[in-house]
Parts: sequence; C-alpha cells; structure tokens
Amino acid sequence: MTSRIKALDIDVVNKIAAGEIIVAPENALKELLENAIDAKSTSIDIIIQDGGLKLLQMTDNGVGIYKEDLPILCERFTTSKLSTFEDLNSIGTYGFRGEALASISHISRLTVTTKTKDSACAYRAIYQEGRMVGEPKPVAGKDGTQILIEDLFYNVPSRLRSLKGGNEQLSKILDVVARYAINTDGVAFSVKKAGDTLNLLAVRANNSTKDKVRTVFGSAVASELLPIAVEKSEEIGLLSCEGQITNTSYYSKKSVSPIFFINGRLVSCDPLKRMITQLYSSFLPKGHKPFVYLRIDIKRENLDVNVHPTKREVRFLFEDEIFQVIFQSIQAKLGSLDHSRKFVTTQ
Ligand code: ADP
Ligand code: MG
Repeated sequence: MTSRIKALDIDVVNKIAAGEIIVAPENALKELLENAIDAKSTSIDIIIQDGGLKLLQMTDNGVGIYKEDLPILCERFTTSKLSTFEDLNSIGTYGFRGEALASISHISRLTVTTKTKDSACAYRAIYQEGRMVGEPKPVAGKDGTQILIEDLFYNVPSRLRSLKGGNEQLSKILDVVARYAINTDGVAFSVKKAGDTLNLLAVRANNSTKDKVRTVFGSAVASELLPIAVEKSEEIGLLSCEGQITNTSYYSKKSVSPIFFINGRLVSCDPLKRMITQLYSSFLPKGHKPFVYLRIDIKRENLDVNVHPTKREVRFLFEDEIFQVIFQSIQAKLGSLDHSRKFVTTQ
C-alpha cells in the first residue's frame, strides 16, 4: 500500500492559521482593539515594547470575561458573539470567528487578567497553544480586561526575521490605533512605550472627530478639513457616508492612506482609494497626498463581512454604484472650492 497524504497535527493546523491572521504585531493589536470595543470599553490603554514584538499590552474597562469562560477562551472558534450562521447577517460586533485569541496564544506567551462587574476579584490565566495553563488565579484588579502578549512569534523564527525593527512596527501600531480612535466615538485611547510616562498618542473620549484628527495627525491636517456627507441612496443600499477630507490647500508628501470604515470595519477598499487619489491628483501638486476619512454605512443585508479572517475586506452589493456616488460627491465638493477660489482671485 502506498500513500502520501495524511492529516496534519492539530497544533500545526492552528499555528498555520495563526500565521495567517497575525502577520505582524499590528494585526494582534487590531484584534485586541476590536475585542475591547466589542466589550463596550470607554477607555483603552496600550503599552508597547520593541514595536509590540517583546510586549504588547492592552487594558480596557469593558464588561470583562467570566471566570467560567476562561478555560476555553483561547480555543479556536470559541466566541460569545455568534451562535448561528444566520447571525452573520445582523452581526453588530467586530469579532465573530473566535480565532484571534486562539491564534495569538499559538505564537506568543499570552496572559489574560479580567474582572466582570459582579465578580469580587479579578482572575488571571496564562495560555499556551490554545490551552489554559493551570487554573485561573484570583488577583486584585479593576473591572475590565487586560491582555498581555509577550514574545510574539518566539516560536516562528522565520516570521521574526522578516519583520523590520521595532520602530517600523511601532508606527504601524500607532497608525491602527489612530484610525480606530478617529472612528470610535466615546472611547479614550492611549499608547505608550513600556517604561515611559509620556503617551505617544492620547485621545479623549469626548473629543470631536476634528480634535482627534488634530491630536493624531496634526493641526496642518485638522485646519484644512472639509466635512463631507453623501446623500442617502436607498436603491443601492447606501445608508450614509460621512467623513472629513482635506481641501485643495492641504497637501503633504507624508502620505496617510485614506481611512475607510464600512459598517464600522476598518477596510482597505482599494478601488475607492484609487478613485479618490486620482481625483485629488488633478488638484494637488504632483506626489502630494490629501487626508481622507470616510465612514460608510451599507444596508446590512447587502454586506458580506466574512470574506477573509483578517476582515480587511468586505463585499457588498452595488459596490461600483456606491463608489461612484461617493466619488461624485467628493468631486463636486473639491470642484466647488476650486471654483470659489478662482472667483475670489478674479475679483
Ligand atoms: P471573537 O472576537 O471573534 O469572538 P476572539 O478570539 O477575539 O474572538 O475573542 C474570543 C472571546 O473572548 C470573545 O468572543 C469575547 O467573549 C472574549 N473577549 C476577548 N477579548 C475581550 C475583552 N477585551 N473584553 C471582554 N471579552 C473579551
Ligand atoms: Mg475578536
């Protein structure tokens, strides 16, 4: 008898899957952020060491995790957010796959400290390869959850080698936090390096979008912002599209790639990005970039969020039509500006 095909060991499967979801520290951070926001936190504090490779810690003040749930917390496909496949049509949380913490536990040393409101104390549990090590220990702590990831990729040496130094990872982490901070109302965010007292980034819960842009991207951007609001278009399922874009007086070589949130999800949305970049290129000096932030809401039933484990992409009906409507609205806004400026100068 000859055969070549055999089933992979479950630990190998889990490690492969983990590598797909967590490619770099910023991916782990995004998952933690989304969990903290899903847990209704109003304050999220992040500490980083060596670009998140040595240490990445997030402390939130959300609902916490029940002690009884701790043993299966890091098993793959365990979640509190989805129970039937149909639930996906109306999912209101970022998470639903139950893969993030599992993945992280396969490629780092993971410690979770958490307290629900009705528990007298916090509990701390350590995870390795999807499993809890020992029992949860009672410890002192505030309501909420602290996730500590140490030595990310310690057991994936090839990944560790391919990641550039800590500073590059750090700026990517700051960028992800900045994006979520701008789009998430009513939540305070802070980021600092381990051992530092000064925050690298700090946004208050009650800051306006414009204030957050100023804090995070600087006043040069914030003072040239134009609010944008695209008209609702029921027949193509566009419920709303609002945001802030810079006018044609702002341009920078330092490019912040456009920030798009579709139904609350940070997505890359390359076709829309291309359309907007091209549009601005006719207004701005060559090589200069605008700042663009759009928050788009699509009819839920038209949207498929389950395209990829990282959820960086979504698919929806009438994509081309919706992008066209948004494009035209921005075009009209920029066009009218340019016109008024010409008008003023010919007076
Ligand atoms: P998912 O978010 O897809 O459910 P995760 O692996 O990210 O999967 O998280 C697994 C579960 O752990 C979540 O469903 C949630 O119940 C719990 N959890 C994770 N992080 C937090 C947090 N910061 N606060 C409260 N619960 C959390
Ligand atoms: Mg999650």
